[in-house]
Amino acid sequence: MLRSKLKVLALVPVLALAVAAAGCGKSDTPSGGTTPGAADAPQLLNAGKLTTCTGLPYEPFQFEKDGKVIGFDVELVDLVAKKLNVTQEIVDTPFDGIQSGVDLNSGKCDLAAAGMTITETRKQNFDFSDPYFDATQALVSKKGSGVTDLASLKGKKLAVQNGTTGDEYAKKNAPDVELVTFEDLGLLLNAVETGAVDAGINDNGVLYDWAKKKTDYEVVKEFDTGEQYGIGVKKGNDKLLKVINDTLKEAKSSGEYDKIYEKWFGKKPSK
Ligand code: GLN
Repeated sequence: MLRSKLKVLALVPVLALAVAAAGCGKSDTPSGGTTPGAADAPQLLNAGKLTTCTGLPYEPFQFEKDGKVIGFDVELVDLVAKKLNVTQEIVDTPFDGIQSGVDLNSGKCDLAAAGMTITETRKQNFDFSDPYFDATQALVSKKGSGVTDLASLKGKKLAVQNGTTGDEYAKKNAPDVELVTFEDLGLLLNAVETGAVDAGINDNGVLYDWAKKKTDYEVVKEFDTGEQYGIGVKKGNDKLLKVINDTLKEAKSSGEYDKIYEKWFGKKPSK
């Protein structure tokens, strides 16, 4: 009893310091640079940094390689950071907290870039940039498994990723299938590979990328869910949203977007 009370007391000054430090950070705006002008410069959580929430691994959008987080989304946000004259700092956190808006609203990060689909529900909790990528749900399974669609999974196990549009799609469209929930894509794909589940549902981009390397597995089906990815910011953070949208627009017209796309997907985006 006494011990835990002491612990709490001991924490108070530390917390006070942390709050003061966070307050200091908030009043700092990035300085220098030509665009945006000082008046239009968004307030960043940490001076000199653009803090991004993302859920790793989500290859090829964001994943770790040789101790560095790289990927398609990472490079797009790097362009935003460059425009702000700051550097991007990535916070790896479960996707469910990103998509619910909890992370943005609690000030964990300035923006969220996580291969995240723009949805009506999410739009109620935070704001999205203009769409930057098209996606659809897909099903991955071992070659020769007999899995061809959701109907063929009747009574079998399907891996879903917590809080994703794939999770939602499976709950609605696969009532006779046993859904097994995983916190991230890495765990989901691992379950597919070990045979702990019969198939996995997730976005087409990440599944095709995985099946390219894991040649015993294939994408057996795409569902026409017509999704589009957007970058999330806290509701009302219009200054940052404008910088993101301007950056996306400029990257598309300059050809920079196509270059990044080709680097991570091996082909030009279809228009
Ligand atoms: N695009 C999907 C969604 O928004 C999956 C995103 C992810 O798992 N990172 O739910």
